[in-house]
Amino acid sequence: MRKLIAGNWKMNGLRADGLALARDLVRRAAAEPVACDLLLCPPATLLCAVGEALAGTGVALGGQDCHAKPKGAHTGDISAPMLRDAGCSHVILGHSERRTDHGESDELVRAKVAAATAAGLIAILCVGETAAERDAGRALEVVARQLQGSLPSGLGAAQLVVAYEPVWAIGTGRTPTTAEIAAVHRHIRAVLGGLVTGAADVPILYGGSVKPGNARELLHLENVDGALVGGASLDAGDFHAIARGAAAS
Ligand code: PEP
Repeated sequence: MRKLIAGNWKMNGLRADGLALARDLVRRAAAEPVACDLLLCPPATLLCAVGEALAGTGVALGGQDCHAKPKGAHTGDISAPMLRDAGCSHVILGHSERRTDHGESDELVRAKVAAATAAGLIAILCVGETAAERDAGRALEVVARQLQGSLPSGLGAAQLVVAYEPVWAIGTGRTPTTAEIAAVHRHIRAVLGGLVTGAADVPILYGGSVKPGNARELLHLENVDGALVGGASLDAGDFHAIARGAAAS
């Protein structure tokens, strides 16, 4: 499967920096094309401007969250049809920062995944254990429970991407061992088998301190179909280097 390298800019970027970053990446990808799919998820304020900068380049646009309802009295929220209308193909859902900062439950994430796919978006569902859960030997059980709780029934492979993001690896510079990542991704693939039609074709991304220096090793493991990149996606050179690492044979 072609690898997907997705950049999650989180709450970073004013208009000038965001546009410069997107244009820098587009320039690098045109000068040195990579054999993988690229996706940028800027903050909502920059979706339209970044979408214009990406138009016709092959780099896709995604949101970082959406509401479970398509419209209505939900001040400050953004709906899946609005993301679609702004040019998004994907939306990140259930990121651990939203589960922590906004108390998002698996049940709420499931409603958001359903809303996203109903609007024609591909949902990037994030799952991952905390440090305490890993230390207690519960990583596999936690990701299985999150998948079972966060996925609506009837989804097909083309509507879903799963991102395995151990909470303790996000923004910390720490990563699991390659054996640990391989074990969780294998387990995710098996659990998806009972939940999604065509589970073998659902891309499973790894996320958590992916950098140019570790991309090649991490992204060539079995069942690792790409990366969800936070901090390193704010540097076009690093993001492009990660994509080169993923695509290298
Ligand atoms: C993320 O938040 O999705 C992430 C993977 O962050 P970082 O790459 O900075 O660890």
